[in-house]
Amino acid sequence: MHVDPAVGDADGKGWYTDLATGKRYNGWYIATNFAEQYSLGIHPAEDWNGNGGGNTDLGQDVHAVANGKVVYAADAGRLWGNIVIIEHTFYENQERKEIRSLYAHLHEIKVRKGDDVARRQIIATVGQDPDKLYNAHLHLELRWDKSLTPTYWPSSNGKDQAWVREHYTSPTDFIKAHQTPKGLWRLEYAWALVLTKRVIHRCIKLCVSLIKYFFVRGSVQFMYSRIYG
Ligand SMILES: [Zn+2]
Repeated sequence: MHVDPAVGDADGKGWYTDLATGKRYNGWYIATNFAEQYSLGIHPAEDWNGNGGGNTDLGQDVHAVANGKVVYAADAGRLWGNIVIIEHTFYENQERKEIRSLYAHLHEIKVRKGDDVARRQIIATVGQDPDKLYNAHLHLELRWDKSLTPTYWPSSNGKDQAWVREHYTSPTDFIKAHQTPKGLWRLEYAWALVLTKRVIHRCIKLCVSLIKYFFVRGSVQFMYSRIYG
């Protein structure tokens, strides 16, 4: 399975335009990391923010991190706001695995429960929590545990960091481990490398043959001249 960042381009980078002011900003950063202890307990997610700060990223596209099926798309109320959850099924070491990506504080939801979505498909836009306690950002979770309710919060259930690391995973680490090779050029590059290797191999073979030929011919001529010359 190939996995890409949920905001920005396929590398999680690139320019975006603040929809309110028309100003352009470059790139995104993670304000609160995975498994970080912060004001609300242990953060089982990454908070992705536009580098422009404040609400400059309000309304920016949120992409599905991988192919999957939407299992939840609704307003989950206080603190969370709109949530989309996508279930991804994939095989790794001949083992069937399932992981869920959760996107919260969404401004606008663009998919429905039951939809099949493709990696990089726009599923929503970046928003704020309903009470606007925090600036616009994308709260992105990756959950191994399918049994968790949409608004499940480990710290409210007495869970520690070890538990969080077991039932969730770090989005950045998971994306890095499964990132899509960028574009067709990688395939072309691989082919070019194979072809170059073949050409070099043939050149070496030809050179060796020529050296052998001239060496043998030279030796024979030398011996001939010694014997009959
Ligand atoms: Zn968060």
